[in-house]
Amino acid sequence: MIENDVREMIIIGGGPAGYTAALYAARANLKPLVIEGFNWGGQLMITSDVENYPGYADGVLGPEMMQEFRRQAERFGTDFITDDVTRVDFTERPHRVWVGDDEYRAETVIVATGATARQLGLDSERKLQGRGVSYCATCDAAFFPDKHVVVVGGGDSAMEEATFLARFATKVTIVHRREEFRKVTIVHRREEFRASQIMEDRARANDRIDWVTNAVVEEVLGDQRVTGVRLRDVNTDETWDLDADGVFAAIGHDPNTALFLDQLEHDEAGYLVTKPHSTETNVPGVFAVGDVQDHVYRQAVTAAGSGCMGALDAEKYLAALQGHLMAAEAAPRS
Ligand code: NAP
Repeated sequence: MIENDVREMIIIGGGPAGYTAALYAARANLKPLVIEGFNWGGQLMITSDVENYPGYADGVLGPEMMQEFRRQAERFGTDFITDDVTRVDFTERPHRVWVGDDEYRAETVIVATGATARQLGLDSERKLQGRGVSYCATCDAAFFPDKHVVVVGGGDSAMEEATFLARFATKVTIVHRREEFRKVTIVHRREEFRASQIMEDRARANDRIDWVTNAVVEEVLGDQRVTGVRLRDVNTDETWDLDADGVFAAIGHDPNTALFLDQLEHDEAGYLVTKPHSTETNVPGVFAVGDVQDHVYRQAVTAAGSGCMGALDAEKYLAALQGHLMAAEAAPRS
């Protein structure tokens, strides 16, 4: 089935970036269509309290905040499809986007599909997400004052998260699945942690941080909240329990870009590349916003800001197509 009307804007992705882009576009009378994904809401849907989003002085639950973002975009006339995009074709204008057999066309497309924090893949981890299991120390460290938390991973993220958490928690245990050869050469040892030397050294210098190597988390323990982890030695298969109040999985993120890799420029890790100080991709009329193009900040507030930029960039692009660039130039941006 083809929806024949060519829209001015389609936004792919329903997280802070996508909904903010929709809010701005809807208020500019662009009647955006957000194809928000079957599991709309993004990473905030597996977060409980959000205390670092400005404007919520008493904090807000992640899913509640996403409901509010969505409602605000809806209020100004955004249309939604709660399903996953299955294919795109950005080779000619209008750009084409499919949800199964249904085709949608638009002059501009904003990609806001985000990134997904890698999970350990345990049922117990899923059960306790937002109840002691977290994927973002910046977001959740302040909930663990004077507590013991476990950080899983051996890359820069794990070192950074552990060091940040140690400002709040009295003890942080880094659990890394690989062996540590501390007595052999530096080069050899560094191969065992992916973290850069400086980040690892900083963590090692922190006396609140303990290290468990050769081990994986076999189970996150706890009923209503995390009470500990069951660890397994990868060499001996021996298991033991470690009491803890929180578990931070810091094993990397994957950008949700599989649909776009053959059409949009991306880096080695698959993050979409945008032009400096802009949300423009290599394809005119296609913009990328939020975590799908940002592996540095990864915050709801930065994603929302980026979504706003995408809508303004797209609005300006549309105005230029329609021959009245100056109207869009009035938008408050450089
Ligand atoms: P990463 O470098 O890919 O490291 C992932 C870590 O998680 C590795 O130690 C890996 O172990 C471990 N891991 C993966 N899957 C696991 C599993 N299922 N169970 C247990 N452990 C698992 O990811 P990252 O640390 O997020 O870093 C990504 C990129 O961002 C890097 O280029 C990094 O330098 C950069 N970064 C930079 C900064 C900074 O400069 N401030 C901060 C954060 C990230 P194995 O080694 O055994 O595979």
